[in-house]
Amino acid sequence: MEECIFCKIVKGEMPAEIVYQDEEVLAFKDINPEAPVHILVIPRLHFSALKELEDSHQELIGHIFMVIKKVAREQNVEESGYRVVLNCGPDSGQIVHHMHFHIIGGRPLGPGLANKKA
Ligand code: 5GP
Ligand code: ZN
Repeated sequence: MEECIFCKIVKGEMPAEIVYQDEEVLAFKDINPEAPVHILVIPRLHFSALKELEDSHQELIGHIFMVIKKVAREQNVEESGYRVVLNCGPDSGQIVHHMHFHIIGGRPLGPGLANKKA
């Protein structure tokens, strides 16, 4: 856990452009944005990935989605549209092993999700 970069952002040990925070959740700009709006929303609590979630975390996940909605509105993409992405595990390309949701928008993202056919 000590080496988790997102835990370091949570603890204030690493800088980030934070756009929203509360007791449970943090949202900050992606360091390598793929669109004009690219925000990461994370729980302060460390999970490596969605597969670690338990029944007791349902409220937290519900709260995260309310935060996603709020951040999307504040970033002015609520009407133009945006994509919410959660990568889980090797085939997804997940590189940071602290569960996070991407909010991506501010330009047309095109159809499809995975860019390539099965
Ligand atoms: P993943 O592929 O794991 O879903 O995406 C991880 C995301 O975290 C990537 O889009 C990457 O640009 C972003 N990222 C990696 N390290 C940092 C960092 O130190 N600060 C910020 N703000 N974003 C990061
Ligand atoms: Zn972490």
